[in-house]
Amino acid sequence: EHLSNKIAAGEVVERPASVVKELVENAIDANSTTIRVDVEEGGLASIRVLDDGDGIEEDDLETAFDRHATSKIKYDQDLFRIKTLGFRGEALPSIASVSKLTLKTSSGNHEGHELYVEGGHIKERKSASPRKGTEIRITDLFYNTPARLKYLKTIHTELGHISDVMNRMALSHPEKSFILTHNRKTVLQTAGNGDLTRVIASIYGTSVARKIIKTESESLDFKITGYIAKPEVTRSNRSYMSTIINGRFVKNYALVRAIQEGYHTLLPIGKFPLVVLHIEMNPLLVDVNVHPSKLEVRISKEGKLQELVTAMIKDAFKQVRL
Ligand code: ADP
Ligand code: MG
Repeated sequence: EHLSNKIAAGEVVERPASVVKELVENAIDANSTTIRVDVEEGGLASIRVLDDGDGIEEDDLETAFDRHATSKIKYDQDLFRIKTLGFRGEALPSIASVSKLTLKTSSGNHEGHELYVEGGHIKERKSASPRKGTEIRITDLFYNTPARLKYLKTIHTELGHISDVMNRMALSHPEKSFILTHNRKTVLQTAGNGDLTRVIASIYGTSVARKIIKTESESLDFKITGYIAKPEVTRSNRSYMSTIINGRFVKNYALVRAIQEGYHTLLPIGKFPLVVLHIEMNPLLVDVNVHPSKLEVRISKEGKLQELVTAMIKDAFKQVRL
């Protein structure tokens, strides 16, 4: 059991940013409204994620560290209509198996609980404050997997990955407030008032936010809303193209192609636009169970979605003067 957790950790927990991603996804799934992440030394020294969500009930506390013991899927067929970000039940056990972890949690109704887990073994358990929500603190990441530890890059690089993760979460959930601090300095703070333009401004700056155009489109299967930047705002890589399906930030090559096709001749060669698209669709039409990281997805009716995206962007540029 502990060995399989460590093996799973190899797939789920690549670096500090993967820990942040999994813990923040859990906070989102728990209906939190404010999610705060404090990291020290690029997450190599410590990572703390604090949320104000539902908390973990006493009975579920220890099973949360058992592999595949997710509370989010009850029936086999649920796997094909996933509404939560997590569902594999391997993040917490994987992270715990390669770190020292302190968890404090409470549903707000009773007393809280605190667990201390080292290398996947629960070492200590006591009661804690009844503040509603969950706080997880990770130190000594990869202390028992020296090969993985060696592979980590500089503090600067690791912080960059963490910051990317937080930006994606904030763009995917403008209705939630996200805070990221590094060595006690604020790196990102979003209002959580649902205004995506303000999130875009916090991440890319206000001058960029002034050059974006609102777009939306709808078909029987898909509903798209979002912002596309004027063609003058370009980058030389795809990292400024954000596609979000049902609240999950995803990478999908067909969507990238459809967006580029929408800009068509407007972009210089080798340049990519800044776009943030929220796509809502029936969960049955998207397969997120392709890879443990759940970043890549397969979409049914992909061609139809591509046509919708391309037409939407072309229409938007017909209506504004560039
Ligand atoms: P998954 O998210 O795939 O269900 P995880 O290993 O990430 O699996 O988490 C295990 C379980 O722990 C979750 O199903 C959930 O019940 C509980 N959990 C983890 N983090 C939180 C949190 N921040 N708030 C409430 N419950 C949590
Ligand atoms: Mg999870």
